[in-house]
Amino acid sequence: SLEVLDLDMAYGELQVLRKIRLKVEPGTVTCVIGPSGSGKSTLLRCLNRLVEPRAGDMLLDGESILAIKPETLRRRVGMVFQHFNLFPNHTAIENVMLALTRIKGMAGSKARRLAEARLAEVGLAARADYRPSRLSGGQQQRVAIARALAMDPEVILFDEVTSALDPELVKGVLNLMADLGRRGMTMIVVTHEMGFARKVADQVAFMDEGRIVEVGPPAEIFDRPKSPRLRQFLAEVL
Ligand code: ATP
Ligand code: MG
Repeated sequence: SLEVLDLDMAYGELQVLRKIRLKVEPGTVTCVIGPSGSGKSTLLRCLNRLVEPRAGDMLLDGESILAIKPETLRRRVGMVFQHFNLFPNHTAIENVMLALTRIKGMAGSKARRLAEARLAEVGLAARADYRPSRLSGGQQQRVAIARALAMDPEVILFDEVTSALDPELVKGVLNLMADLGRRGMTMIVVTHEMGFARKVADQVAFMDEGRIVEVGPPAEIFDRPKSPRLRQFLAEVL
């Protein structure tokens, strides 16, 4: 499991996370929703240690994330971003393979076989030898997801992975993510897609001003919101 314990984070004077507590059970999907600037990305960035919290702890299978070596953590916690972050001069399959050879130290031939399998899983077998510039945004995002999957991580963090996509490409990527969730991948998904959160999430956390204001099953969060702040947010986005 993944557990966040009273996490505080600040950029200089700006307090961005305030005593965040969250528990993510293995094989579940947690969606994080909330207004812009509420700290959603910062929470994910703490979890894979792109930034360091000021106080509190994060436990991955009982072990403090702050005590795990960064290179080990990169294997155990996958991350998919809004802007794919693919290497432009490498093909789709090379982008997936590089994660395996560089981070996992896997031999090239084995990495290629595994990368082929992962690309096939996200429906891109036929595009393996294309560079990112020749792929659609949705296809590029699938490559990024295949790359994260290839590491065989314990949890994958998704940060608004569909918000830079053309509308007609959003659904395919969301369906792929829903599929991963059904297959038991542990995922934390920051999203503005309320339909996805309602349908796919096991729990939804609503953040505002650096706090988790409410957390619960989607039916509770969307149909019986308790806090005025969440009610107001839902009125604005739904
Ligand atoms: P959005 O929905 O717009 O992506 P968010 O909930 O992901 O918002 P964060 O990116 O976590 O919000 O930002 C939380 C707060 O931290 C904001 O006030 C933001 O301006 C600030 N912030 C984010 N990154 C930095 C940074 N590198 N340096 C200073 N302040 C930052
Ligand atoms: Mg963000």
